[in-house]
Formats: sequence, structure tokens, C-alpha cells
Amino acid sequence: MATCPVCRGERTRPHWADLPDRLFRATSARFTLHRCDDCRTLFVWPVPSMAELATFYPESYWIGPSDAERDTEARAQGGLLETYRRFVLRDHVRFVARVLADQRRAGMQVAMVDIGCGDGSFLEALGEPSAMGMDLSKPALRAVERRGFKAVHGTLDACPLPPASFSLVTAFHFLEHVRPIEPVLDGMRKLLVPGGEIVVQVPNAASLQAKLLGRKWGGYDVPRHLVNYTAATLRATLERCGFTVVAENHHCLRDNPTTLANSLVPSLYPPSRLSRRNGPDGIGGAFANLAYLAVTLASMPLCIVESLLGRGASVMLRAKPR
Ligand SMILES: [Zn+2]
Repeated sequence: MATCPVCRGERTRPHWADLPDRLFRATSARFTLHRCDDCRTLFVWPVPSMAELATFYPESYWIGPSDAERDTEARAQGGLLETYRRFVLRDHVRFVARVLADQRRAGMQVAMVDIGCGDGSFLEALGEPSAMGMDLSKPALRAVERRGFKAVHGTLDACPLPPASFSLVTAFHFLEHVRPIEPVLDGMRKLLVPGGEIVVQVPNAASLQAKLLGRKWGGYDVPRHLVNYTAATLRATLERCGFTVVAENHHCLRDNPTTLANSLVPSLYPPSRLSRRNGPDGIGGAFANLAYLAVTLASMPLCIVESLLGRGASVMLRAKPR
């Protein structure tokens, strides 16, 4: 039965069929997004098996270019790209730094873990010495360690970390990949000390760009995003799972413009191009990167407007267990 992952309602039906993997072309299969009649959540149905899901994630999905390529890239761009990455991460940094500052002010001992930390660029931008990462990708973990942060291999359901040991658990662009969500939120809660909080971020299916672009919206990222939350349904899900939401943010210069760019020019998305090529990128690659950057920059004004309207392409929530 295609039960709604958000409200558990059973009145769901196919909404968009025959959807390809537009972004990575990791599979030639086609997928269907079902929609719940009650809460309107869109979700992939049938849910792919774990084995199928594993084939939908090329290595570059998590980590981007190899170390050698990253060094070459950095030299070629004279550090411009790294400066750009830091600049666009400032919304994440500001939101999370406020949680840590509040905790310090309240006399808490701060310790944080970022679940699904990827290459650790966020941890580095945040610069919180007590922070660490957890991920399943070994190249990602090596990248985090090179940035000077501790990183462990694991998942929340087989968690190598001791319970009740963190004041903050973060998970950016993670919850939309998992189903069911309840054990994941439970795993996050178990890691918290009393008074601890979580920060989670997902694409916002109620954003202006999602409404304008319909089935071509990049935030659906079929078939990897199993459940497409909105700000309202993510809130409702956290509340149903025993959390109280205390802050919400829609501004995200890193993710919102790239989601729009991925909708318009999915074949130019750099990690996607990386997953499809077998050799040096060359001059064509440099041109493609430049074109992608131009579309991303051109997307920024619309993304700022939709965030101001409370309909940004991603939503970050800060919540604490009840
Ligand atoms: Zn529903």
C-alpha cells in the first residue's frame, strides 16, 4: 500500500509518472511520484530496494572531485571557488552558530555532530573545534579528516557514537533520502544530551521554484529523494516525532540557486558531469563549469525573493525534543 510517509494517510495516487533521473542519469529506469490527497506530500512509489538505491548514488554525489582534481582545480582558479563556497555557506553557518552560541550562553558544554557530513566543507566553514562528522562514504571521511575534523563511518541505525553525548546534531539534505524517517529522528534524539537540539534541512517542495517548474524541479531529484517535504510537512513530521520546532530559515545561497540551476541545466551540474566522464575535463569542462556558475548566479535574485516570501527552495529547522 502506498501509505503517505508524512501523515500516514492511505488516500494516495500516482501524480507524475515516467520520471527519469534527470540530474545524474545513474539509471535508465523511470519512476513515479505519488501524491497524498490529504497532506499533498509527493513521494517515490514503489520505494526502491536498498540494493537499487545504492546504484543511484555515484561516488561524486557525496564527495565531488578527487583530491588531485581538487588541488588542480584550486590552483587553476586561484582559490576563487573556495572563497565562493565559503561565501554561500554563510546561511548554514549563521543558523548553526546561533544554536551553539545560545547553548554556551546557557552554560552547556558544546559538542556537535553533522550526520551525512559529506566532504566536511560545512564543518570547516563553521570552524567549531568540537564538531565532528559521520558519513558512509570513505572518501568523504578522508576529506573531512584532511580539513582537521574527526569523522566516523556509520549510520544512525548502526550508530558507532555513544548516546547522550552531543548538544547539537545536524543533518543537511539527508532526511529526504530516507524512509521511514521515525528511526532516523529517534537516532538523532538518542545522541543528544538533555537540552540538546537538532538542525535539519531539506528541499522545500512548496517553494516558488517548485511550483513554477513542476515535474522538472531539481529539488525532487528522482529517484534519490524518496520523500519531498515542504516547510509545513517537515514541521508536522518533527512535531509528530516528539520535537518542538524553535526556528525556521529559508535563505540558503548555497542550495537554493543550485536547485534552480539543476532544474534548468541538469547536465551541467558539476558532480553529475564528473560521474559521467572517464578522463581529464579539458577546456569543454571549464566552459561547462563557467556556464553552470553563470546560471547559478543568475538564479540568486529569484531565490532571495522566494526566501523573503517564506517560500525558499530549502528549509532549515531548529528543534528540540519535547
Ligand atoms: Zn499525507
